[in-house]
Amino acid sequence: MFRLTLNGHLTPADKSRSDYAYIPFHLPQPANRLTVSYRYSAAMSSNQTEGGNVIDIGLFDPRGADFPGGLGFRGWSGSARDEFTIAPTDATPGYLPGPLPAGRYQVILGLYRVWPAGADYEIQIEAELSDQKFDFSEKSNFSTSTNPSFPPKSAFRSSGQWLRGDLQCHTFHSDAKGSPRQLLDKAKALGLDFLAVTDHNNTSHHRALAALDDGSLLLIPGQEVTTYYGHMNVWGTGQWCDFRCRTPDDIRAIIQLAHKHGGFCSINHPKQGGPAWEYGFDLPVDALEVWQGPWPYRNTESLALWDRLLAQGWRIPVVGGSDYHCPAREETNFLRLGQPTTWVRVTEHSVAGVLAGIRKGWVSISASPDGPRLEMRAESSVGEAEMGEALAVGGAEPVAVTARVWRGKGLVLRLVVDGDTAFEQRVLDDETTVHASIEPGRSVRAELIGDCPPALLPPQAPADLDLRGWRWALTNPIYCAREESGK
Ligand SMILES: [Zn+2]
Repeated sequence: MFRLTLNGHLTPADKSRSDYAYIPFHLPQPANRLTVSYRYSAAMSSNQTEGGNVIDIGLFDPRGADFPGGLGFRGWSGSARDEFTIAPTDATPGYLPGPLPAGRYQVILGLYRVWPAGADYEIQIEAELSDQKFDFSEKSNFSTSTNPSFPPKSAFRSSGQWLRGDLQCHTFHSDAKGSPRQLLDKAKALGLDFLAVTDHNNTSHHRALAALDDGSLLLIPGQEVTTYYGHMNVWGTGQWCDFRCRTPDDIRAIIQLAHKHGGFCSINHPKQGGPAWEYGFDLPVDALEVWQGPWPYRNTESLALWDRLLAQGWRIPVVGGSDYHCPAREETNFLRLGQPTTWVRVTEHSVAGVLAGIRKGWVSISASPDGPRLEMRAESSVGEAEMGEALAVGGAEPVAVTARVWRGKGLVLRLVVDGDTAFEQRVLDDETTVHASIEPGRSVRAELIGDCPPALLPPQAPADLDLRGWRWALTNPIYCAREESGK
């Protein structure tokens, strides 16, 4: 047995230089199993908000830790675990099983919080050494793309239909307690059509999901790139997309890497406590999560931010995500899978079809999988468009907007032009179509608004929630492009 203890001290000055510290060690022979545990001084407990240290952990193997996308990435557990183990055929969730050759490994410590007195850390390494020779070039089929064929069962089934799903949720492959199987069972019970499991900063859940895939739910490969300055979902690729990020240039490099792997990037919960997004919006992202979790979780902030971006001419689709952290047993808090639910119109029943629908902006968001649901289209004298699309508008003429509402009885349908209310009407039936004539601006979007009946709240809801003026559904906008008159 190979054993090694690594000690050190980290200070606020270390963190100001870099958010990550690399602690190298040399494995003299290949190993059948490698186990790493760590502890550090003045660890902050989860109910503390200040004082103390929070140090995250992960591992790179001898293939290296270059940014972005270091080839030797073997996993990351944030601060959710104090020990992990990796073997050729199994690993702690969050880590990738596979060969463990001799060579230079690097434990990566994430300096999330380092208090003024600094952090003393101790890392214990244990390895069962093996006489078998191994070098990565001999087994070129091992890669950090955990399962290149995932998702395997994405057959075309129908066309032109709306699919509903959840684009952000978590299992015990990062910081939730529930298993992938428990999460999939809940998604199926809700009748979701697609699900993106977006565990933080790793892809080890992809392997587990591929094994559970029975074709009844479109499983969109996902990971939440969780940096200390903002979070971003990457969907559609099995490749790990890095997270070691501090500046707009860093996040741009990660977005470029994700795009190279065929990934789709969506900024998450850009609002106080989300946590917020600190990299700005002048980035080649593909979508924005405008609604995360129950409406009163500061979603008015992300909605107002989006309205400001729209007014500046932004044309990025918006989506919702529950950010559900699946519990191991009964529900523990107010967040629920499918709240909100994202509806996407697809022309192909596949992961690529869902992502293509989002890219087109054929998306509306509902408070729950049962709705209420909203669709919108618009017509001018020179063209027509549905949500996500551009509408040609001739001169100063008004635009005819048609909104269809399902299960929205009693709520108010509102059309919003460039951030301002342009039209409001109470919805009187469970299924209805509303026609409105509005002055076009840069964009028009629709929403359903109303107070939350207290009977709808689960027992875990905080007592001090403001129940007024919740959004129950939101559409993507139609962008109005004015054609010069007299042409
Ligand atoms: Zn997040």
